[in-house]
Amino acid sequence: MGISRRSALKALAGAAGSMAAAAVVPSVCRASSGTPAVDASGYDGMLYDATRCIGCKACMVACNEANDLEPDTGASSERWQMPLDLNEHTKNIIKCYRDETGDKYSFVKRQCMHCIDPACAAACMIGALAKREHGIVTYQADLCVGCRYCEMACPFNVPKFEWSSLAGKIVKCELCKDRIAVGKQPACTEVCPTHAVIYGKRGELLAEAHRRLEEQPERYVKHVYGEHEVGGTQVLYLAGVDFDLLGLPAYGDEAAPARLRSIQETIYQGFTTPFALYAVLAGVMWKNRRTSGDDDDRDEPASEEESS
Ligand code: SF4
Ligand code: SF4
Ligand code: SF4
Repeated sequence: MGISRRSALKALAGAAGSMAAAAVVPSVCRASSGTPAVDASGYDGMLYDATRCIGCKACMVACNEANDLEPDTGASSERWQMPLDLNEHTKNIIKCYRDETGDKYSFVKRQCMHCIDPACAAACMIGALAKREHGIVTYQADLCVGCRYCEMACPFNVPKFEWSSLAGKIVKCELCKDRIAVGKQPACTEVCPTHAVIYGKRGELLAEAHRRLEEQPERYVKHVYGEHEVGGTQVLYLAGVDFDLLGLPAYGDEAAPARLRSIQETIYQGFTTPFALYAVLAGVMWKNRRTSGDDDDRDEPASEEESS
């Protein structure tokens, strides 16, 4: 079926209008992503101690069940759940690092880090990702337009796009916010048989991590990952091997959103004017065509022929 000039003009006016509107939204979004918290000690978080993890993956199964996610069996010939990385069916994954000799190894749990100043929320034009109750970085699917800016912005490669859906959304851990809202703990921390991952307030978890470092210095790399990285995260790590070997890069303590915001400002300021102009131009053309009587349905067949 062809597209009429009238339909095309309508679509152009609509799209340009939406884009112009979207282009001016970031000033509002910055408020929703928020400025870095001065004191995040009361925020909810998790402490994962890689030296206590036995790689049983009970946390992965519990996560899928709690979040109503289909098991990802792609890499196991449909036999059992075995995702290779975070994906649209996997908000939480256990991976394994092993050195060349095979003597030294460590498991590592990966999920959203719940950054204190989250880059994903700063990049989200319309506040679909934002820091909300308990400091949890949550996602509102009804606001999401599927632009995937959050995927590009996240320093930990966490948000995943739901490619299998026609109206794909973003998938990422929200710290089991619905369970927390009714007084439960996250599914992954509840089922962990060795308490390798525990849930609590960031301040308490940080104190616990430092206590372990002091009591057993020989067991750990002397660092709590997430205490300062990218401005601090609410998911904290202890490990017996270097964090970069576990896919946790050596980031500085500057939060990415500060840089992102200045880039966004430059880009959006430049885009606002052309999109606003397109919206006005399309509106004028649409009005002119109506005035000249060139807009009734008799125009449609001719347009279809033109477009065929
Ligand atoms: S880890 Fe990524 S997705 Fe999670 S809060 Fe930080 S920036 Fe957002
Ligand atoms: S907090 Fe909930 S959603 Fe996040 S990894 Fe744990 S079980 Fe999954
Ligand atoms: S449930 Fe606990 S021990 Fe088992 S893989 Fe997950 S974090 Fe490790």
